[in-house]
Amino acid sequence: MKKIAVIGAGTMGNGIAHTFSQHGFPVNLVDLHDAQLERAMDIISKNLERQVQKGTLTEENRKQTLQLIKPVSDLKSGVSGAEIIIEAISENVETKLNIFRELDKLAQPQAILASNTSSISITRIAAATKRPSHVIGMHFMNPVPVMKLVEVINGYATSSDVTGTITEIARQLEKIPCVVNDYPGFIANRILMPMINEAIISLHEGVAGVVEIDTVMKLGMAHPMGPLQLADFIGLDICLSILKVLLEGFGNPKYAPSPLLINMVSAGILGLKSGEGFYKYIPGSKELIPSERLGKHNSIH
Ligand code: NAD
Repeated sequence: MKKIAVIGAGTMGNGIAHTFSQHGFPVNLVDLHDAQLERAMDIISKNLERQVQKGTLTEENRKQTLQLIKPVSDLKSGVSGAEIIIEAISENVETKLNIFRELDKLAQPQAILASNTSSISITRIAAATKRPSHVIGMHFMNPVPVMKLVEVINGYATSSDVTGTITEIARQLEKIPCVVNDYPGFIANRILMPMINEAIISLHEGVAGVVEIDTVMKLGMAHPMGPLQLADFIGLDICLSILKVLLEGFGNPKYAPSPLLINMVSAGILGLKSGEGFYKYIPGSKELIPSERLGKHNSIH
């Protein structure tokens, strides 16, 4: 089993570490903050316990999985000996370029450096290193242990051997890899974000309310979640920043974010994580309550 290092122990990092270790890979989970590492180990432990209760994992597997993950706060020792390094730190271009410069210096020469970025160019990240042929996108979906897709993104210089290794590893994780080329938003967000944006524009224009828009897409298109609920789940700030990447990357006004989305993000209304977006979220409740605040904003007429 290849030795893995996961950099960043947030939402995605803990899910990626969980998935690799559950499939027998030893993982160093690295974060700048000890508190974040503790939180990640706690989340992984609770998620594994839930799998045992559901009968999808044995108690023995749960123990083995936890033993395979080592939380590390020092980047150098975290990547030491790792053959595949998956970066899942915050989505900020400068931060990503810096960490890849560091990883390039610290990682063994043949190690593959993969990024879980949702929207930053893999070619640009690879150019910050001296090993662009060994840099690739490995885009997991949230929640990682549950979602089957891994979008594998070839940068301009990614070697076909590296793509082969990463697709093979995705299969070992019981995921379905889809290889795509490096253009803004790749495939997942290039198609998803304009749909979410169009739903927000329709709300803003007063074509229909929050519940109606989501119900049409759920019942009419068999989507498990409507686009406005999905936007809340992803985070409205994340949706806005990906739309900006599409707008800048293609220079096409069709990607311009809805003014309502911009206003909501400016007001700190970010969706599930802030407790309110298109819906209001009450801790411990699964009820979907449309935000009454949108009443005065959901029509331009
Ligand atoms: P997050 O904010 O939950 O976690 C980021 C973690 O990175 C934090 O724990 C932070 O302490 C750590 N970190 C920041 N700088 C670091 C550094 N230099 N060294 C070590 N650790 C560092 O973010 P997230 O939602 O897990 O997203 C991570 C990446 O995955 C982003 O690129 C994001 O675009 C992508 N992604 C997110 C989702 C999602 O639904 N959240 C889905 C697919 C892809």
